[in-house]
Amino acid sequence: MKKIRVRFAPSPTGPLHMGGVRTALFNYLFAKKNKGTFILRIEDTDQKRFVKGAEEYIMKALDWCGIEVDEGIKEGGDYGPYRQSERKSIYKEYSDLLVKQGLAYYAFDTPEDLDKLRKKEEQGGRAFTYSADNRDSLQNSLVLSEEEVQTKIRNEEPFVIRFKVPENEILNFVDVIRGNIEVNTSTLDDKVLFKSDGMPTYHLANIVDDHLMEISHVIRGEEWLPSLPLHILLYRAFGWKAPEFAHMPLTLKPDGKGKLSKRDGDRLGFPIFPIEWTNPETGETSSGYRESGYFPEAFINILAFLGWNPGTNQELFSMDQLIEAFSLERVIKAGSRFDPEKAKWFNQQYLRRKSNEELANLIFPGLAEKGVLVEQDYLIKVCDLVKERLTFANEFWENSWFFFQAPGEYDEQVIKKRWKENTPEILNELIPVLTKIDEFTSSNTETEVKSWAESKSYGLGQVLSPFRLAIVGGSIGPHLFDIIGLLGKEETIMRLNKALNIIKA
Ligand code: GLU
Repeated sequence: MKKIRVRFAPSPTGPLHMGGVRTALFNYLFAKKNKGTFILRIEDTDQKRFVKGAEEYIMKALDWCGIEVDEGIKEGGDYGPYRQSERKSIYKEYSDLLVKQGLAYYAFDTPEDLDKLRKKEEQGGRAFTYSADNRDSLQNSLVLSEEEVQTKIRNEEPFVIRFKVPENEILNFVDVIRGNIEVNTSTLDDKVLFKSDGMPTYHLANIVDDHLMEISHVIRGEEWLPSLPLHILLYRAFGWKAPEFAHMPLTLKPDGKGKLSKRDGDRLGFPIFPIEWTNPETGETSSGYRESGYFPEAFINILAFLGWNPGTNQELFSMDQLIEAFSLERVIKAGSRFDPEKAKWFNQQYLRRKSNEELANLIFPGLAEKGVLVEQDYLIKVCDLVKERLTFANEFWENSWFFFQAPGEYDEQVIKKRWKENTPEILNELIPVLTKIDEFTSSNTETEVKSWAESKSYGLGQVLSPFRLAIVGGSIGPHLFDIIGLLGKEETIMRLNKALNIIKA
């Protein structure tokens, strides 16, 4: 069987957005599933759109996601260089080859000439395309004599090389996800292959590189589907066997209306980028999944389900499980809606799967930054109690601060509702009950407090609500006896006394 080689080929025109990471992921999963090679190729032929820092960003983002590159600008490999700007000399040779065979041609039309024609067509309600319909009346080597062409080239008149699309031919080809596709070549225009700035266009560089790098499968976003007929024609023109193509469905906005785009970013209330990005020109920062507290495993799991499903009810997949389960046949055609609430759910599931020790290790540095110094053992126990309440590790403090410090103030609403005239008397009676308990555990305190309350005919709410108020400052937090079991007798009684001093109903 042919060796599986796939590539992720981003253009460094900005940060990679989550749709781009999904493309990388599907390529990676497919490669690993088939014991193949995952290549990262940087397509930087469009110098005008080059953005500083984008290339490093792409590599950092893949790294964070756990998508390991086998061949690339950092990793090297036998098919390099892997940055198209370093392969410049290769492309001209190939476009010249097509010109020589009469399959491409030089075009000398100036941007102004073409603009005029474009405007004229627009006035007539038509769109201008450089194609079989009009190429005979334009400034190109199909019309000009060989001598005229050579003179223009000698005089360094700017030119582009255009592909000569065959006229009125029905093209049939297959996309792994979309099935059979039929296109009439008359709907295509004579695309530029080589630009006047001496650089190839995306189309030429992409095909040449996919061929030279022996790419077996091209897996990319649906937005490239309209380019596929041209790519098929280019493979044919060069006499090369085309790779297999799989165009993945669009990722849609949460309301299902339209493609999720870079601009949607923080506007819709969720990050669009894997890691934070600061625009080098404007200094504007867009949030990232990493900085928002998502685990890379969760982010990957979310992306995998955008356009793919395993055909079972299982939703949580590690990278290894995804590799095992993945197939292009299970990628759907229809656009898939991104659901930010479901994304949070995934993160919550991954957080719950972490051991208390792992979670404590994650949280410890943030606490130290706050100046909260805590024993590892104690932190692990707190993690155990609050884990179920968290979606993100960064919500830890708001859900657990009372394990580390006594409340400084008390919730007015709770005071109004729960602090009755006889509350001080009840709590004052409770203190000696607690003092008497030797082993101040959750279950011992619960048993003692409840039997005392019963013996005094106090309703549980009468006791526990103000008790909780004194301990955590409100009606928040996990099971009260779990909290005091961890705080210990001394701290618990200290907080009761403090509340009795401060709260005046
Ligand atoms: N450079 C293209 C991009 O930015 C690659 C498209 C392809 O995979 O062919 O998405």
